[in-house]
Amino acid sequence: MRQTAKETNFIKFLGTAGARFVVSTQLRASGGVWFSLDGVNILGDPGPGSLVRCVSSRPKLNPAHLDAIIVTHRHLDHCGDVNIMIEAMTEGGTKKKGVLFAPRQALEEDPVVFLYIRKFLEKIEVLKEGGTYRVKDISFSTPLKHQHPAETYGINFQTSRCTISWVVDTCFFPDLLKHYRGDVLILNAVRFKDENDKEKGIYHLNFDDIKGMVKELKPRLTILTHFGMKMLHARPHELAMQLSNEIGCKVLAASDGMRVDLTQL
Ligand SMILES: [Zn+2]
Ligand SMILES: [Zn+2]
Repeated sequence: MRQTAKETNFIKFLGTAGARFVVSTQLRASGGVWFSLDGVNILGDPGPGSLVRCVSSRPKLNPAHLDAIIVTHRHLDHCGDVNIMIEAMTEGGTKKKGVLFAPRQALEEDPVVFLYIRKFLEKIEVLKEGGTYRVKDISFSTPLKHQHPAETYGINFQTSRCTISWVVDTCFFPDLLKHYRGDVLILNAVRFKDENDKEKGIYHLNFDDIKGMVKELKPRLTILTHFGMKMLHARPHELAMQLSNEIGCKVLAASDGMRVDLTQL
């Protein structure tokens, strides 16, 4: 039985892995993030294992209750399970329903969604810079293109209770501060330190970037997720606590299966 809209205001981290080695070894799971906002269910970035993480969740998350799936970019850790999740959302393709949101690159250039699977969806919407979208009562926007090797957009969700900014994979650039001013700030915290990252072609936030962003934005709640190996070694929970104490804002490090109740904000 579906819960009432009032009860379904939460974020559940199906996985918190963020770099190739962490994903391929499954040191952390890589299932993406389930948003239940005013009773609307949206799955963000269904990486490898997303389906298994949904059905083994306690309480179980039923993919047939999904209203939409968002793929922020075409990297495998963000879309490995997108095909099976569309199939599960549409009850094996027997019900034409649900919307898929993805950047053009993920759909056209070396596409990550099979053509036969696309037919199960009610609609596919292309994410673009400055785009605004709606899923039932929830609206969201993709304010700007990220600096990342694939075409990538972060998300601002608008709910009846709060705004949620999800800064997915990107290196830091000042415009991020203008556009992600949500009450809840989710940061993909892949890197611990900058080790000449850009020269090496690594375009991710590091812990210094994160510190600067939280200091500047002062959200009601910050959640770190999508950890790389060195972040894991540096103990994300301790880093989050350190940041909370230093800045005086609540900062959490997500763990696999962590559920954040938005009614308790
Ligand atoms: Zn990633
Ligand atoms: Zn990426």
